[in-house]
Amino acid sequence: MIMKALLKATIGINVEIKKGKEMAKRELTCACCGESAGQWEQWHNQDTGFGLCRKCADWIAKRTMFGRPDPQGNPLELSKTYGLPGTHLEPHYYRHLGLDFAIVAEFPDTKDGTSDANAFMARFPNHGVLAVADGRVIVARVDDLGVCGSTQQ
Ligand SMILES: [Zn+2]
Repeated sequence: MIMKALLKATIGINVEIKKGKEMAKRELTCACCGESAGQWEQWHNQDTGFGLCRKCADWIAKRTMFGRPDPQGNPLELSKTYGLPGTHLEPHYYRHLGLDFAIVAEFPDTKDGTSDANAFMARFPNHGVLAVADGRVIVARVDDLGVCGSTQQ
């Protein structure tokens, strides 16, 4: 009985170690432009060693198709392919109460934008609205404690 419990505990530790290894940051190459994408966690939907650089993420988020926003630029769609800013790629930051928080997603402060923000937070439950400002709904990790002024805004 004790051996069985010990074996179960050992397996549990190994799983935790494996999880920790998988979550480690590594140098990534941008799958879009081929430049460095920085050191971030590997997103499961990208080939090993590949991620997305901030410049390409901004380009994808702002590009249009036939005069309308490219659906791939929506943060929910972007996250399916490339992961989450602040974890799998470089984020933009939002200054709130003197601290900088990684913007994981942002949506227009409209009915559709609010609906998209809710869909995003339903998919990623450990995220919440950090602020609604300047016509934007800004979503961050709920465990992001912010950093003191060392980042862009
Ligand atoms: Zn790139």
